[in-house]
Amino acid sequence: MRARYWSVLGFVGLALAACSNATAPDSLTDEALLKGSDVTATVVDLGEGVFQVDYAFAEPQTAMIFARSTADYRIGAWTPLDAGAHIEEVAGFDSLLFDAPVDHAAFRVEARFVRPDGDYSPFVAFSDGGIVVYTGQFELLPEQGRDRIAALGGQIDRWDGEQPVLGVRVRSTRPIIADGRSGLHETVAVSRGEGSFIYIGEGELTEGDSFVGIIDPALPAWIRDSFDSDLAAVFARYEALWGFELEQRASLMFAFGGYDVAGFSNKGGVIGSSVVLDSSGEALREETPQVRRFLRWFFAHEAAHLFQNAAGVELANTVDSWIHEGAANAMANAALAELTDDPHADLVRVYQAAITDCTAALADGNLASAAERGRFQAYYDCGSLIALMTAAAVPDRSLYAFWTGMQARALEQSRDLDAAFYLETMEDYGAAPEVIAAIDALVSSRLSDPANALGNALERAGLSPVYDEAGALTDMDFPT
Ligand SMILES: [Zn+2]
Repeated sequence: MRARYWSVLGFVGLALAACSNATAPDSLTDEALLKGSDVTATVVDLGEGVFQVDYAFAEPQTAMIFARSTADYRIGAWTPLDAGAHIEEVAGFDSLLFDAPVDHAAFRVEARFVRPDGDYSPFVAFSDGGIVVYTGQFELLPEQGRDRIAALGGQIDRWDGEQPVLGVRVRSTRPIIADGRSGLHETVAVSRGEGSFIYIGEGELTEGDSFVGIIDPALPAWIRDSFDSDLAAVFARYEALWGFELEQRASLMFAFGGYDVAGFSNKGGVIGSSVVLDSSGEALREETPQVRRFLRWFFAHEAAHLFQNAAGVELANTVDSWIHEGAANAMANAALAELTDDPHADLVRVYQAAITDCTAALADGNLASAAERGRFQAYYDCGSLIALMTAAAVPDRSLYAFWTGMQARALEQSRDLDAAFYLETMEDYGAAPEVIAAIDALVSSRLSDPANALGNALERAGLSPVYDEAGALTDMDFPT
């Protein structure tokens, strides 16, 4: 599938009103921006979490599948408004099927607040009735018919074609905030493969040192009071290590889902400089060191993506998401360790857990196919270990320098971030061939003894792991 996972065009008037004077050229009106779209979705907020979605297709269509949230929530939530239009799950895809070719189709859509693995949440609820709409959920891929959809076997990567450019127009009688601009009632976004986050509701734009955005009024006070300074500290660290500052503050939408869930639950999504955070859970009532630590870690992980995105290089597809998720984990782990009394011991503990979890995840297949096996967490756990190996194997032992170098190289050579390009870049940086081969094996081979392969890879990369009699990690020579 030649789908793109990075936005090709942003909002009309990319200006973050609160922190930038940039304005859109007058000629770039909303309608002009939508003109080049192959598929246009007009999403009208009907209130109470209900929307009407009107699709217009440049070419008549008989069958379509969704590029994101492929089968997560639509059956039972989307109702066709035209005779001859159907929505059904076909072999793992929510599919739009039409009795005859059509150039438009309308649906009544109830927001469902699912949190798909490895993808953005289609809708995020705020406690005061506000809602974030993720526009990427409306992206469609044309197919010839039901049989062809079934032949994909539920694997989006098997879809062959050029992904249509999607234009999304969102309308509401309530205020809309899109990319830091508030007080709108209509906004337009164009994307092919990624989409953007649009907030609808009465929430007001607030400004922190490190962000501008919407903070759920029900978010526990201790989180509201601490997270701007937590984020600012993370940004200061990243600026020093990455060697640059972000051009604009993060545009943040922070939703709170209440205390009903046992424990706590967090999901974050980052597109460009926009961040959506969604926290809930009974454990968030009180500030405890464990919960505070986890939230800081969560902010640090998401903030790492903001720095990864700054170069304008598309992040890798799901099968290679260990590249960015692993690096974001490694960066967050290091940032959090710095806040403890004994950073080295903290890292040993964190990476012991990663070794255990990664070993288990590789027991039934390689890292690239982890998503297919429902083991998304492997991209984070194994990915963080690969990030360490990478940093240790390159001359200056810096993951940050490796990343900035890799991105510059990707831009120069017009290459995508994938496993092949990553390993080539390591080679370019002078990493030893046996380290590259060891990482390649974790990513693409079915290993007979994952624990042993992982241990050897850590050793070869120069991380000098030391274990106790029980096989638990007691020391490692951590890179930056
Ligand atoms: Zn992430």
